Amino acid sequence: MGAQQAQVRGRFAELYGAAPEGVWAAPGRVNLIGEHTDYNDGFVMPFALPHQVTAAVSRRTDGVLRLHSADVEGGVAELSLDALAPGGDPQWTAYPAGVVWALREAGHPVTGADIHLSSTVPTGAGLSSSAALEVVVALALNDLYELGLQRWQLARLCQRAENVYVGAPTGIMDQTASACCESGHALFLDTRDLSQRQIPFDLAAEGLRLLVVDTQVKHAHSGGEYGKRRAGCEKGAALLGVDALRDIAHADLDEALARLGDEEVVRLVRHIVTENHRVERVVSLLHAGDTRAIGPVLSEGHASLRDDFRISCPELDLVVDTALAFGALGARMTGGGFGGSAIVLTEATEVDTVTKAIEEAFAAAAFTTPRVFEAVPSAGAHHLN
Ligand code: ADP
Ligand code: MG
Repeated sequence: MGAQQAQVRGRFAELYGAAPEGVWAAPGRVNLIGEHTDYNDGFVMPFALPHQVTAAVSRRTDGVLRLHSADVEGGVAELSLDALAPGGDPQWTAYPAGVVWALREAGHPVTGADIHLSSTVPTGAGLSSSAALEVVVALALNDLYELGLQRWQLARLCQRAENVYVGAPTGIMDQTASACCESGHALFLDTRDLSQRQIPFDLAAEGLRLLVVDTQVKHAHSGGEYGKRRAGCEKGAALLGVDALRDIAHADLDEALARLGDEEVVRLVRHIVTENHRVERVVSLLHAGDTRAIGPVLSEGHASLRDDFRISCPELDLVVDTALAFGALGARMTGGGFGGSAIVLTEATEVDTVTKAIEEAFAAAAFTTPRVFEAVPSAGAHHLN
């Protein structure tokens, strides 16, 4: 039994007076490529991190949900299932409560639970701790209550929990990544029909490393800016007469852009269409075993997010510029933007050089020291014992 698992089990017993019925884990993720495409019916390609939320869970029959997190100050929160309603809870408990709410709304007979969880996923770093938290709860309840839901269905319910119950507008990528990723693979996901393919992505076997650089900054306006980008993309699709920007083929991009007058919409559309194309290029390259060649595609993606989608920030740009200047194969911001994390693809032999260069560049710029760690493509949500 792993240390985190044993700890979670022990703490559950202390809090609730009995051993849990089981322990489950669900990972955070990074998105290799395909940024902001998920609300445009497009392609994304996340992989799961070794960092995960671990939850010890038992059923209850009395309509009560008890929640505790090792990572948050405070005692056990006790909620009545009948009183669960969207929008009423500004605390972290809204995420797991939202999952229970979404399951019950969909008609699943969940009659209560005791939950204790503990996480190694950095929160608010763009690594999707929120989805990991939702998915671990959904998987645990699916197993305990024998609901028979498939992984993609759990992801859908978790997305609904986050969108409707918590009130955070997110696409389907994060929950699907946490629920469906497999170790040693990236997940190619078509967010239109939710079809997915596991793409072999074994970095270590090729002498490569992928670093995550958490800038530890979160610029305050990120929420509103996300909404604006989303609305701008919808406007672009409407102007072009398609259901979603996914429907604009890369080969038709120039012609489509020429039909748009609005310069801002032009930039948004160009990012989405070229980004979908980049996902397809990365899939082809990985299938061909040409992992090093994805580096420049990642870097192109960053330029597009910085110049066309305009959601980068000085810290993210500094990571990318420094990494590339010191020999990285490719680098890009990942996640929603305006802070959070960047990823860097590098030869294993260059990890120390690149890391040191980034740390020094941040010190010279008087930015907060970034957190750098290696991302090994890891397993999706699973039952531990
Ligand atoms: P991200 O998903 O990128 O990490 P979000 O803002 O979407 O950032 O989600 C972070 C929120 O998820 C936290 O503010 C908290 O409410 C909740 N959360 C994440 N991990 C935990 C945890 N271990 N315990 C309690 N709440 C958590
Ligand atoms: Mg989140």
